[in-house]
Amino acid sequence: MAEKPTVAFYWCASCGGCEEAVVDVAHGILDIVNAVNIGFWPVALDFKKGDVEDVPDGFYAATFINGAIRNSEQEEMVKLLRKKSGLVFALGACAHLGGIPSLANLTSKEEILEYVYRRSPSTENAQNTYPAKVYRDAAIKLELPEFFDRVYPLNQIIDVDYYIPGCAPPSELVADVFMKILKGELPKKGAVLSPNKSLCSSCFLNDTKPEKLLIKELKRPHLTVIDPDKCFLLQGLVCMGPATRTGCNERCIHGGMPCRGCFGPLDGVLDQGLSMLSALGSILDFTPEQEKELDGVIGKIGDPAGTFYRFSLGASIFYRQDGKRGGE
Ligand code: SF4
Ligand code: SF4
Repeated sequence: MAEKPTVAFYWCASCGGCEEAVVDVAHGILDIVNAVNIGFWPVALDFKKGDVEDVPDGFYAATFINGAIRNSEQEEMVKLLRKKSGLVFALGACAHLGGIPSLANLTSKEEILEYVYRRSPSTENAQNTYPAKVYRDAAIKLELPEFFDRVYPLNQIIDVDYYIPGCAPPSELVADVFMKILKGELPKKGAVLSPNKSLCSSCFLNDTKPEKLLIKELKRPHLTVIDPDKCFLLQGLVCMGPATRTGCNERCIHGGMPCRGCFGPLDGVLDQGLSMLSALGSILDFTPEQEKELDGVIGKIGDPAGTFYRFSLGASIFYRQDGKRGGE
C-alpha cells in the first residue's frame, strides 16, 4: 500500500478562524485524517519548531499556512516550512492578501505599540511596561521576535503554490482542496482555488438589478433597513460583489449583508479596491457639473480603506512588495 502523504499546518498573524475551518470539515475530517499523516499542527497537537527542523527537505507533501506575516518568528517559521514542503498553500484571506491585519499598514509599528501600551482608553499600565527586543535580569536573557513595520501577505515572504481564499475559507472549499491533492487534480501553480468569476455572477440577487444599474446615493449598512431580496448595490450599499471572486456560496448575502470582499480579486486584477472603485464610478449617476453633490455622496463612505481594502490592503498597489507606499 502506498504511504500516506504527510501534511503540516501553521498559524501566523490571524484570528485562528482558518484553523477552525479545517476542524469544521467535521465528519469529513476523518476521511482526510485517514488519507494523510499530520506531521505538524501546533494549534491542535504538541509540536515544536525542532520537529520541523528534524525532517528532511520536502518532507511535508503539503503545508497549509494561514495568517499574514507580522514578525520575525513568523518569517523564520514560514521560510523553514517552505524548505521542508513540496507544496505550500496560503490558507485564508490573511495569508492570501494580508487580510484584516494588513489594515495596520496604514500606520507604523511605533504608533501601534504606543496606542496599545500607553494611550488606549482601556490601558492600565502604571509601570509603563513596553515591549523590548531583549529582556535581561540577573538570571535570564530573553529575546522577543521583531515586530515588523508592516504586514506581509505570505507570497511577499516565500514562494506560494496555491491560495485558498476567504475569511475564513468555507470548510467545503478546504475539504475540496484536500480531495484535489489526494486525487492529483490540482490546477496550475499559482492558482487561487475558487472559480475565476465575480460574486455577482453567482449571486441570487443579480437578477434584481436593472439592465443599466445607476445609483444616486450611498448608504452605510448599520444606518439602513436592508431589503434582503434586492441587490445591495442597487440599494446604495457598497457590496464588493463586482470586484470579488465567487466560491463562498454568497454566505454574507444570504445573511442579509453586503459582500466585504474576503475572497479577493479575480485573476489578473492588480488591486481589488481600485477594481471596486472603478465599478462604483461606473454606476454613480452624476454629471461632471454635479461634482459637489458627488463629493457629498462619496463622503458618506465613512471608512474608505476598511470598505474597499478590508482584506487586501497588504497586497494592494499602495503597499507593494518593496515596502514603499504607492504615490510616495
Ligand atoms: S452587488 Fe452584491 S447583492 Fe448585488 S448581485 Fe452583486 S453580490 Fe449580489
Ligand atoms: S460574501 Fe464576500 S465577504 Fe462574505 S464570504 Fe463571500 S466573498 Fe467573503
